[in-house]
Amino acid sequence: MERKSNSCFITAPGFCPDCGSILPLLDGRKTVVTCYACKRKWDPEIFGDMEMTCTINFNSKDTYASVKEADDSEDEADGPIVERSCPQCQNDKMSYATLQLRSADEGQTVFYTCTKCKHKETENS
Ligand SMILES: [Zn+2]
Ligand SMILES: [Zn+2]
Repeated sequence: MERKSNSCFITAPGFCPDCGSILPLLDGRKTVVTCYACKRKWDPEIFGDMEMTCTINFNSKDTYASVKEADDSEDEADGPIVERSCPQCQNDKMSYATLQLRSADEGQTVFYTCTKCKHKETENS
């Protein structure tokens, strides 16, 4: 198991530490498992060993939290806020984003999103 400390991008036991492909299941009679993809042979104990060495990486709350945070803030930052009344909740502020369609003469589509209830509407200009 000379590679276990430097190659670990697997989420569960049963994946090749070398290329990340799923490994064939060990059927008890075999003494080695051979990766389908890279043909590397692994000791049967790879299944147990990998679980132990990888748990630390994949249960990292920090990684998960920062990804989640980035998603949220992207959702909030829809674009500039304009004064436009929301037909749904009478809020008078909506954010907008524009999308240029395929060619210039087709104009732009403007997407409005209510800052309060997230009601969305589009307008072609
Ligand atoms: Zn492999
Ligand atoms: Zn609204």
